[in-house]
Amino acid sequence: MLSFRISPDIFISGNNVSKRNKFLLRCKSSFKAAIDPKPKQNEVLNQNLKKAKDSNSKAPVSSVFPFSHAKLGPFKQERPSLDNQFHQDSLLKGYLCRHVGEEHLPAVMSDLGRFGGRVTEDLYRNSLQMEAEQPKLEQLDAWGSRVDRLVTCRAWQDMKGIAAEEGLVASAYERNFGEWSRLYQFAKLYLYEPSAGLYGCPLAMTNGAAKTIEILKDTQPWIYDRAFGRLTSRDPSKFWTSGQWMTEKRGGSDVAGGTETLAYEQPDGSYKLYGYKWFSSATDADITLTLARVVDKHGNVVRGTAGLSLFYLEVQLDNGNMNGIQMMKLKNKFGTRQLPTAELLIDGAIAHRISDEGRGVASIAQMLTITRIHTAVHASSAMRRMVNLARDFATRRKAFGKFLHQHPLHMKTLAAMEVETRAAAIFVLEVARLYGRQELGDCGGQQQKMHEAEVLRLVVPLLKLYTGKQSVAVTSEGLESFGGQGYIEDTDLPRILRDTQVCSIWEGTTNILSLDVLRAVSKSKGSVLVHFKNQVHHHLSGAHELSELASSAAKVVSSLDQTLALATKMTPDHLMMASRDLSYSLARIYMGALLLDHAGYTKHDNDIITAKRWCEQDLSLLHTSNQGNHFSDESQKKNADLVFDGYLRPDRLD
Ligand SMILES: Cc1cc2nc3c(=O)[nH]c(=O)nc-3n(C[C@H](O)[C@H](O)[C@H](O)COP(=O)(O)OP(=O)(O)OC[C@H]3O[C@@H](n4cnc5c(N)ncnc54)[C@H](O)[C@@H]3O)c2cc1C
Repeated sequence: MLSFRISPDIFISGNNVSKRNKFLLRCKSSFKAAIDPKPKQNEVLNQNLKKAKDSNSKAPVSSVFPFSHAKLGPFKQERPSLDNQFHQDSLLKGYLCRHVGEEHLPAVMSDLGRFGGRVTEDLYRNSLQMEAEQPKLEQLDAWGSRVDRLVTCRAWQDMKGIAAEEGLVASAYERNFGEWSRLYQFAKLYLYEPSAGLYGCPLAMTNGAAKTIEILKDTQPWIYDRAFGRLTSRDPSKFWTSGQWMTEKRGGSDVAGGTETLAYEQPDGSYKLYGYKWFSSATDADITLTLARVVDKHGNVVRGTAGLSLFYLEVQLDNGNMNGIQMMKLKNKFGTRQLPTAELLIDGAIAHRISDEGRGVASIAQMLTITRIHTAVHASSAMRRMVNLARDFATRRKAFGKFLHQHPLHMKTLAAMEVETRAAAIFVLEVARLYGRQELGDCGGQQQKMHEAEVLRLVVPLLKLYTGKQSVAVTSEGLESFGGQGYIEDTDLPRILRDTQVCSIWEGTTNILSLDVLRAVSKSKGSVLVHFKNQVHHHLSGAHELSELASSAAKVVSSLDQTLALATKMTPDHLMMASRDLSYSLARIYMGALLLDHAGYTKHDNDIITAKRWCEQDLSLLHTSNQGNHFSDESQKKNADLVFDGYLRPDRLD
């Protein structure tokens, strides 16, 4: 078709050549060159040959015959570089400077500054090796005997010692930085996670187990004495890691309905456990905390949550043999491939009950709070790593004659990612700070402390569910910002996306955590929302006074009021359907309040623009979806009709 249009007979008349015709003329000559390229190519070739023969020519051979001789061509794309991850993180530094007590700040900043360099050096190299040499399971030896040997690479093994020496778990329990010890710990983990090759996963469970076992000091001192010091040790030869075995074949979300593992009490007061754990990520851990149902002397068990108890189990016996545990299979996973996630048969493992009978779910809640914060740290730090690499790459890659950072559209894309990344980071840092205040702070009185505890109960699931989703979006956008290279495995970029996808699944999926948000509200009879609202208002006080931030602050307030008013009017069934929209709304509102608070405090342009842009988005998705009548019986029916439209097995819906 084009060949007709570029005919000069049709488009060119006399000397009057329109712009369009000039363009077409250029096209025409381009096409002509394409049809008969030889003369031009020959010309270049002849010039090159002449240059090569010319003994005075200083041109390197590769530029004379760029592809025929040097094979790769003269152009080499510079790779993105990883500089000190702490020093280049203005939000992290700004947040710590504002919140960490003056007496501790220099030590905190100095350690994180050092560690921010280390995560770009040996730790990062380890993570690459862990991705290249993924764990293997050798179930049988050459002679047919069952050995269940988990083979991990040297880097994975080294990570255990590094974690101990760096105090990645220990620091929170040494409490050298008072109520800021948790904030320091999670800030360090934030730097660590993107270079940890998923070793952060066993550390999450170790951290959670340490918290759970710490409170056994008076009730079960022998378990405390045996395990707590090791879980929180800085000595690699003593350090223990822990697993968290909850998920079974029937259910990871519905542990009450899905847990089939049985516990038989032994004459010495210990238990023997029998069951099948469907996902165990810390397969090479030293201990684990797990749920099981106690079988009474008549052989009966209690169904549901009330039948679940929490057990402490050492994976190996003192003689080095496995404690009645068989590794059935290593999972073949989309991401987190460095991590040995296995299916385990528990066949008479000796364990010790550490909760009251039937209080297993309540007792493991402490651990889940910590592992959920770890997940959010992973999610938000994955975004930070991707954005750091993407912005550096923008200074090294040229397109259309300009570096990427000189293209306004590219910069707009990166800036949007930066806003998301900062919002996620400030959320996770704030939750870490609140957690530390609960552990050691006075919070301005007992009553205020209880209010903050309720807010923490609400914001942990919000944090985990929101950042889990955000990180997939941001790291995916990040890959695109590298063009085709973002899709190439040996750049190590796709791994970041693959490894972050799990954040929205483990430790509670988005829907399950949204329902958990409702649980927090109903358990507190709504008071949690009152304290949440007070906190939001408290965070906005500075922003209201700054003219640049006032309208954003007003929007946060009105969105919160709108969201709460609407949620209050909903029936329980509709509220359940709406819980994800409600959670997203509360998360965005809270993040908006935190960003505005930070911007109001620093008055820094970049903090102001971040907060304002964050608040430009829909902060009450609940309200927006409700306007589309999404939460009604009618809409529930429409959802089912839509999802199963064309489904060929309608009998399955009966
Ligand atoms: C790499 C990896 C490692 C893991 N490591 C561990 C580990 O070490 N220890 C451990 O215990 N577990 C581990 N898990 C398991 C993980 O925690 C569970 O997979 C997760 O909790 C989801 O449970 P499930 O797979 O049974 O999904 P299901 O519970 O079957 O959920 C399926 C879908 O249904 C939705 N859904 C379920 N119930 C509801 C509801 N009431 N309302 C609305 N939606 C609902 C969920 O949101 C989800 O989208 C790991 C998982 C992965 C992927």
